[in-house]
Amino acid sequence: MKKFLLVTDLDNTLVGDDLALAKLNQCLIQHREQYNTQIVYATGRSLTLYHELATEKSLLAPDALITSVGTEIYLEGSKTPDQAWSDKLSSNWNLEQIIAITNHFADLVPQPESEQGAFKASYFLTPESAKSTLPQLKQQLQAQGLEAKLIYSSSQDLDILPTQADKGMAMTFLRQNWQIEPTCTVACGDSGNDLALFQSGLECGIIVGNAQPELLQWHYMNPNSNRYLAIAHCAGGILEGLEHFDFL
Ligand SMILES: [Mg+2]
Repeated sequence: MKKFLLVTDLDNTLVGDDLALAKLNQCLIQHREQYNTQIVYATGRSLTLYHELATEKSLLAPDALITSVGTEIYLEGSKTPDQAWSDKLSSNWNLEQIIAITNHFADLVPQPESEQGAFKASYFLTPESAKSTLPQLKQQLQAQGLEAKLIYSSSQDLDILPTQADKGMAMTFLRQNWQIEPTCTVACGDSGNDLALFQSGLECGIIVGNAQPELLQWHYMNPNSNRYLAIAHCAGGILEGLEHFDFL
């Protein structure tokens, strides 16, 4: 047993099975007390929607919160995004010009105002439309010299982010600031916007048993012995993976 950094997605990863979550929380509380283990939630939700979830489910207070698909980091309960991370994301990012282009696509339906951010434009997009819209949008952004990353998740959410932003890059930023080795870091997820948590392949990865097809497909096409596909769903899958990696 040793200290580790747990970075986990919330919806359908940490949250989704209340009994398993209670069991995992018990283990994490003990681990935190004994080994000073650190917990980070990495979610596609905004801070507003995170607080909504936190009132419904029993979530342990995290050491840091990565929200809005990695575009905002909040340290230890702070209500303002970490300035150093925001500064990193602001270079080569022009939200107004990006929105001007997305306005030409009728099948991109803007998500609610609470889900839009200084470094994130979010839309609903059906899988049928995604096939043609995503390449066209990418091409138009490129033609205008705009640097942006498109992340399509759960067959419905399109997030347009700075190229320097995603959950994985935010995790690396925190891990390096806290001087934690990748081998002592565990990332957990279930859908397309969690793929970035597994992309470097250096950290231990847990994909929960109920993962979305887009993530499973990538997992099978990019095998890595540092990544574990759990059988159990949600928090049960995280528990199973932590035991697999000998963290618990
Ligand atoms: Mg999820």
